[in-house]
Amino acid sequence: MLSEEERERYARSLSILGEEGQQALRRGRVLVIGAGGVGSAALLYLAAAGVGTIAVADGDRVERSNLQRQIIHTADRLGENKARSAARAMAARNPGVQIRVIPEYVSSQTLPALARRYDFVIDGADGLETKLMISDSCVAAGVPFCHCGTQGLRFQVMTCLPGRSPCVRCAFGHPAGSVSGSTLGPACGCAGSVAAAEAIKYLTGRGELLTGRLFTADLMTMESRMVPLRRDPGCPACGASGQQ
Ligand SMILES: [Zn+2]
Repeated sequence: MLSEEERERYARSLSILGEEGQQALRRGRVLVIGAGGVGSAALLYLAAAGVGTIAVADGDRVERSNLQRQIIHTADRLGENKARSAARAMAARNPGVQIRVIPEYVSSQTLPALARRYDFVIDGADGLETKLMISDSCVAAGVPFCHCGTQGLRFQVMTCLPGRSPCVRCAFGHPAGSVSGSTLGPACGCAGSVAAAEAIKYLTGRGELLTGRLFTADLMTMESRMVPLRRDPGCPACGASGQQ
């Protein structure tokens, strides 16, 4: 049952998700890795949507140069740990959700066990190596996740259901292509918003996920593409010889 307050707060979602969907969101647990540009948008929308448990992991501190795109942080929180800063913004947005602060970087040693405590993971981290590590860890843990990348005004997003759809290594493992670097805020916002939508769809069982395909768009030209992806049978992470 939703409370009167929840009915009012989520009035505009209820006609789409139904009470059942809203309750599924409340039961949902999502881990967002990185409270940077992509994580900012994803975290704010997840909190606003009423995802019951949201964890944010980031070992970095808020710098002035982050504020151009990392909209969850504010000028009065310079120097603060990003996960803590993000948690404050989410709590202000929606006091009804539980927020877990992980004020450190995740690694291949810590992430598989951490990811297993959540239903869905969003990769809002920087750098292809880190993104491959997140993909490998989520595949090893068997936890669905959404991969995001931005560069300039371009962004790309895909979702992986481990063992059922291509992982990031299948898509980019060989050869590697960088998906990070200088970027403008709106591209991060788009990627983070798409990732939040993927999490909401996964938790409520609605719509079609970005599995087996990579969504890319360029805000400079406004061209978008849906690139089909296939599982690589030789993928060291999710292939026949890897962990299913
Ligand atoms: Zn793979």
